[in-house]
Amino acid sequence: MELSTNILLVFRQDVMYQPVIYRLAREFDLLFNILEAKILPRREGRLILELRGTPDAVARGIAYLEDSGVEVTSIADNISRDEERCVHCGACTAVCRTGALALDPTTLEVLFLPEKCAACGQCETACPTQALSGVNIERLGPLPRR
Ligand code: SF4
Ligand code: SF4
Repeated sequence: MELSTNILLVFRQDVMYQPVIYRLAREFDLLFNILEAKILPRREGRLILELRGTPDAVARGIAYLEDSGVEVTSIADNISRDEERCVHCGACTAVCRTGALALDPTTLEVLFLPEKCAACGQCETACPTQALSGVNIERLGPLPRR
């Protein structure tokens, strides 16, 4: 059985130039896609990875990342839509490239599927009611140190 999960990796200054991702690919039986990246030179690097493999391989890969000093955050566990604010206008579906926001053809409501989200932030900008504020690589997980 294969598992797919989207995670935020935060590399602080002391690990951001280490070959951590290279070793993740070489030493663990995992496939990954880089979905988003944000680099603050000499301060912090942020990556959104889609990680795929057996549950055991994914768990070992995440443990390796954390042991290497990388802060790992589950995307799906840390984002949400404010259901009180959402008016199902559909504006966010036009900018979401992963299918995390999609129209339900039966109910005509806009579904939000956090497990598909890449935290690109496009919907946050598009939403007229701020129902998706914080769904953004820059504001998820640990905050940058100043
Ligand atoms: S743009 Fe905002 S209000 Fe409109 S459907 Fe998306 S989350 Fe809801
Ligand atoms: S941040 Fe918004 S637009 Fe980007 S993948 Fe997630 S739900 Fe879709």
